[in-house]
Amino acid sequence: MHTLNSFELFTDFLLTQGDEILSSPISGEIWKIRGVFHEFCKDDTYHIPTTYTDFIEYLQLFQDLSGRSLHFSAEFSLLSIHSINRPILTWINCISLRILHHRLLGKPLPVEDNDKRKEASSLFDLITEKQSEGPLELAKVARLLPRVLTNFIHKSSAKIILGKERAKLTTLNIPFPQVCNDSKHALMLASSGLNKREYASTSKQLAPEHVVHQRLHQSRNMLPVGIYQCSLNKIHFLPIYYNHTDVNLGDCSYLDTCHKMKTCRYLHYYTLNPTKPNLVLKQEEKRLDYTLGQCFTDSFRAITPPQWINCDVRYLPFSILGKFAAIISDPAWDIHMSLPYGTCKDDELLQLPMHELQDEGIIMLWVTGRSIEIGRKALLKWGYQISDEMIWIKLNQLRRTIVTGRTGHWLNHSKEHLLVGLKGDPSWLNLRIDTDVVVSNTRETSRKPDEFYDIIERLVGTHARKLEIFGRTHNTRPGWLTIGNQLQGVSLHEPEVKYNYDMYRSQNPN
Ligand code: SAH
Repeated sequence: MHTLNSFELFTDFLLTQGDEILSSPISGEIWKIRGVFHEFCKDDTYHIPTTYTDFIEYLQLFQDLSGRSLHFSAEFSLLSIHSINRPILTWINCISLRILHHRLLGKPLPVEDNDKRKEASSLFDLITEKQSEGPLELAKVARLLPRVLTNFIHKSSAKIILGKERAKLTTLNIPFPQVCNDSKHALMLASSGLNKREYASTSKQLAPEHVVHQRLHQSRNMLPVGIYQCSLNKIHFLPIYYNHTDVNLGDCSYLDTCHKMKTCRYLHYYTLNPTKPNLVLKQEEKRLDYTLGQCFTDSFRAITPPQWINCDVRYLPFSILGKFAAIISDPAWDIHMSLPYGTCKDDELLQLPMHELQDEGIIMLWVTGRSIEIGRKALLKWGYQISDEMIWIKLNQLRRTIVTGRTGHWLNHSKEHLLVGLKGDPSWLNLRIDTDVVVSNTRETSRKPDEFYDIIERLVGTHARKLEIFGRTHNTRPGWLTIGNQLQGVSLHEPEVKYNYDMYRSQNPN
């Protein structure tokens, strides 16, 4: 006969040593548990069943008494214990054990003291609370104060914190120099740094920045010290006096005729940035060993070189391209404006087989004016939910916001819109790193800022597959496949895509 006293000891043993019993090296094996229990009882061993069979019977009795508080990997009985697949202890119901313990001691159960409820400082603390019994119970969550719950919800998850840390390490911290407001500086730097012969012609080919800095360095003795020093620290916009420039017309806004001709008579400026520090990420900063979409280290797998296909996107079978984590598309919407390239009809754009390109991921779609509504419709039709909208605020050549945009019937447009669509449940995206506003210079007609590529790369990782539809040569980048009808030929590096494309071309030579 086993005394109640021995069960009290056994309950105590299970409650205090539970974790050790279940984990390696004991791993829930019955004969090992018996040995450890013997140790536990020390002087009280006369309570303990002596033989192995006794111990099994003892356990069976204990199961009856404790409301089957021990869970085994298989049916637990005297017979099964001798079979090949011996049952092992896999889980201990501590709540049942605690109730039994109190009963055996003849004490009432402790009442939950509401005033003294413990406040975990994070969800992690809550789940791993010392006295935690099994998985997070609903009752435990219900006990939480609304204030504590709100704090949990607002706390960034580990994934977001890690994502931000990685972005800090992998993103070049480009200095943001001030613009010099003294127009005398720009005039004097222009006369020393820009070569008259360069801009007497109409070619607009001016010397690169480092050459202008070299010239200024050589003629620094002729310049007031303050002005030379200023050229090293601040941005200066040097006026360029071409032979055809008419200063009385004022600054060129690049909005009217300028983009069509080489002899625009408005005043243009040369942007002279201060000499740049060496902007290269340190090798150890590149070698990060965590995260999604990011390879273990850059040395294990290089990023795919830029890839592109010159094609009419209306006829290219998208299925040959494979699936992408991110897509950016700047459709040639028919916006009833004169543009230096052909456009597509709304229906043609809506009919593109976009569903073939992504099972799960993010898409960014440039839209303007009336195409905002069509763009929204298109995204929904293609199976996306619209999750965000980003804007690009355009800066002119003097890095001021543009107030006389070339587009817009009623208001001058000085921003562009980018719809963001999500498909599936891309929980692998690195979230909450960038903002939805980019302030950046305008360049060639329709050319979008490079900042958007950086944002996408941070979102999906540099190693994830990325596609640009309606891209041009200056848009091609490592890790991206670009398609559009102004690209030069075809350049593919991924063997599957190359194979698919060659097959397609052999069947459709024209
Ligand atoms: N985002 C780009 C600009 C895109 S302009 C940038 O940053 O430079 C739209 C481009 O789509 C133009 O190059 C135009 O020639 C191209 N395009 C128009 N119709 C096309 C078609 N049917 N197939 C492929 N490209 C097309």
